[in-house]
Formats: sequence, structure tokens, C-alpha cells
Amino acid sequence: MIYQHHGAALACQTRQFSVATEEQDLVVIGSGPGGYVAAIKAAQLGMKTVCVEKNETLGGTCLNVGCIPSKALLNNSHLYHLAQSGDLAKRGIDVGDLKLNLPKMMEQKSSAVKALTGGIAHLFKQNGVTHLKGHGRITGSREVAVLHPDGKIKEVVKTKNILIATGSEVTPFPGLEVDETTVVSSTGALSLDAVPEKMVLIGAGVIGLELGSVWQRLGSQVTAVEFLPHIGGIGIDMEISIKVSVESVKDSSKKEELDCNTVLVCIGRRPYTKNLGLEEVGIALDERGRIPVNSRFASKVPSVFAIGDCIAGPMLAHKAEDEGIIAVEGMAGGAVHIDYNCVPSVIYTHPEVAWVGKSEEQLKEEGVKYKLGKFPLAANSRAKTNADTDGLVKVISHEETDRILGAHIIASSAGELINEAALAMEYGASSEDVARVCHAHPTVSEAFREANMAAYVGKAINI
Ligand SMILES: Cc1cc2nc3c(=O)[nH]c(=O)nc-3n(C[C@H](O)[C@H](O)[C@H](O)COP(=O)(O)OP(=O)(O)OC[C@H]3O[C@@H](n4cnc5c(N)ncnc54)[C@H](O)[C@@H]3O)c2cc1C
Repeated sequence: MIYQHHGAALACQTRQFSVATEEQDLVVIGSGPGGYVAAIKAAQLGMKTVCVEKNETLGGTCLNVGCIPSKALLNNSHLYHLAQSGDLAKRGIDVGDLKLNLPKMMEQKSSAVKALTGGIAHLFKQNGVTHLKGHGRITGSREVAVLHPDGKIKEVVKTKNILIATGSEVTPFPGLEVDETTVVSSTGALSLDAVPEKMVLIGAGVIGLELGSVWQRLGSQVTAVEFLPHIGGIGIDMEISIKVSVESVKDSSKKEELDCNTVLVCIGRRPYTKNLGLEEVGIALDERGRIPVNSRFASKVPSVFAIGDCIAGPMLAHKAEDEGIIAVEGMAGGAVHIDYNCVPSVIYTHPEVAWVGKSEEQLKEEGVKYKLGKFPLAANSRAKTNADTDGLVKVISHEETDRILGAHIIASSAGELINEAALAMEYGASSEDVARVCHAHPTVSEAFREANMAAYVGKAINI
């Protein structure tokens, strides 16, 4: 399929009422990281593109109630904690009377969200993506109706292809009603107007650990209750999971009453496909409510594609983005390839936890022979100078070929470090390859190099 480039000729419009007569090349439903990135890529490839979003602001879960606001609160609560715990004083920085200004902290979070969601509107304009406000409903294999909140049709758009990027929503906890005041979901936990004295966190997965950290740093006594025998969610290496510390992890198999002011329910997210018209066009969901797609992200209906949280795979913003780009490139005749083994995961606690590829447990289960290389942050010069030495880099390589199979990191900058591991793995690098790359000194990245050295020759230098 060859698309003509429309470029700047197509101005971004947010239409209030009209009937779109011109046929589109692509209608994207949802403007989260999957949808908005796909829409921009499609327009850059010359497709006449519309993005339908039901929310007031663009950016989906990630920008409005996910990655972005949580990281703003994590960063600022960490700074507060450094001052409050005496860490800054130990560094020769006396702060005097310390006071938390929670409304101001929330204001900074909101301004980051506003700038970034507004940035997408700007990018749409720049790239010629038409933004339609309303609920998108598929009314034919090549037709999407845009609905008003009352369900009335606002506009009908004919299109060659449809891309569903409707994301996910909070999974409810049976028997516990979320009121976003005393019983809160991740969304409510991003906007509490006071620090609860005691918080019980149900579910110590990635989102729970991050939001629990925020409120613990701001003064809450946080207790986490986890059903799994470990914390940190699925895919985490057990050696790393054990090192991740929380105030207390209660074993939910033993009955115990916990007293608290706020309950934070973080048991996961589920795909969101409400009122999308899937049944009518013959698309059935799988047993977990996800849209089944083939390797080109096409559903059972060849002109309807789906990506991101509403299909199988890890519910991560960067996974949604990558799928969005390659799905659209595929529609334009390009290759469609993603190696899910090279998709990194990060928990933004302090220290951060990050991993990519296989854990030791997975390799044992698969019967793959491997060797390990480990390097503690305590032996890294930059971590030492920063007085931030909690952590470990663990590299797993193939016993015979030395190819890197997985990397697992705990370090305050693990979320940045893991991208080097992902890059190495995407290029099929061996531990020796990384160990022989000159790394700037002094940097925490040198710990990754040393761990690779340990995996390949059996010994690092600085330990
Ligand atoms: C608290 C929290 C923290 C997180 N932190 C991280 C993190 O640090 N890193 C990370 O990678 N991931 C993180 N995530 C997960 C991440 O937010 C999601 O994986 C990501 O947003 C999924 O992107 P998506 O495009 O598939 O869907 P979403 O971001 O959910 O966007 C879907 C969009 O579609 C719209 N929509 C739905 N149905 C319709 C319809 N019928 N018509 C029109 N519009 C519709 C929705 O309004 C929404 O805007 C976090 C999530 C939460 C809740």
C-alpha cells in the first residue's frame, strides 16, 4: 500500500459537530501512548489519520493517571524523604524547619501532566493528525462512529483501517468498593489531599510498590498485603525480589486485622473495550478480555488492528508505543517485528528495580545452561561518591555462547541502566561484547560493564 504524504496541508482540528465525508486511511481509537504514537507515525508515513479520544485530555492512562503523575510524586517525595530522614544533613545540607506542602507537590504533578498532554495536541497539529473528541464505536469493518457522552452520534468516519488502542482500567477488588477517598485505586492515590496516618496496600506489584513508597515517604505507615509469595510482580528475578524492601509484607494466608485510614487497592488492570462495537463486527475477546491479534496486530477482521494494554503482553507504555509504530508501519507494507524478551520493566522505588530478558527461575524451568555475573553498587565509584550504594547488577549469560539472556538491576538509576542491557540484547550481544565497550568514568553504568566482565571471565576488576 502506498500512501501520499499530506504533511502540513492537513491542519489539526478538534471538531465539535460535523459529518466527516472524506475517507480516512486510519482511525485510531484511544490516545494513550499506544494510540497517539501510532497516529503520529501514520501521519508521518502519509496516511490521512484521525485519532478519537473520549477523555477531555490526550495521553491516556500513562500521561493522565499513570506513568507521568506517579513519577512526579515519586521524585518529589524522594527529595522530601532525603531532607526529612537526615540524609541531606549527612551530606552537609542543613534544611532547617522542614514542612511538607502537599497541595504544592500536587500542583507540580499536575503541571507536568498538563504540559505533556498539551504537548500531544501540539504534536498532532504539527504532524497533521485530526483529533476527534468523543467515544469511538466501530460500526463496520471500515467505519467508526464518534459518540457524544449521551450516546448520540456526533460523526461517522469512513476509513481504510481502524486501530484499537483503548488501553486498560483498574481491576476492581471483589467486595470492596472504591470511593477514591478512603478506599482508593491508583487514580485516587495520585491525588489524596492529606497524608493518611496508616495505609494498607492490597497488592505489592509494580504500581502498588511505587504508590506505597510515595505515601510512606510523605509520612504514612504503609503495610503491604500480597497474595503472591513474592513482591514486585510477574517476571522479577527472585534474588532481586528478596532485596526489594517494604515496611512490612503481610502474609495474606494468615488472617489478621489491619487498622488503617486509607486502603489502596492495586491488584492489577484489565483491558478496556466497553461499547466499542466489537461483537457486532465479529471480534470475540479472549478469556482475559483481551482482543486477539496476529503477528501484524490484525484482529479477525483484517482492517481492524489492536495494540497496547487491550491485547496480550505486559501492560507497559513503551510496549504499547512500540506496537503502535510497527502496526502502522505494517499497514504501510513494512516489516512487523517485536522481541518481547527485550521489553524492559522498571519499578521506580528507591532504589529502582529494573530487568530485561529472562530471570534465573525462567531459565531453570526452560533447562537453559547459564552463568552469572554480579557486581554490587557498593563497589562502584560513582555510587560511592553519591553515597547511594544500595544495589546490585546481575547479568545472566548463556553458558556456552556467552550471549546475554537477562539483566536484573537494583540501583537508584536502574531505570536508566536497563536500557543499555536492552540495547545489548536487541543486538544479540555477549557479555564479552559489553565488557569490552569503553564506559565513561565515574558512572553507575560501569557496574553493568563489571557485571558483564564477571559473567564472561568469572571476575570483575573492582571487587
Ligand atoms: C499508576 C500507574 C503507573 C504506571 N506507571 C507506568 C510506568 O512507569 N511505565 C510504564 O511503562 N507503564 C506504566 N503504567 C502502565 C501504562 O500507563 C499503560 O501500560 C499504558 O498507558 C497503556 O497504553 P495504551 O495506549 O494501551 O492505553 P491507555 O494509556 O490506557 O490509553 C487508552 C486511551 O483510550 C481511550 N479510550 C478508551 N476507549 C475509547 C473509546 N471507545 N473511544 C475513545 N477513546 C477511548 C481512553 O480514554 C484512554 O485515553 C502505569 C499505570 C498506572 C495506572
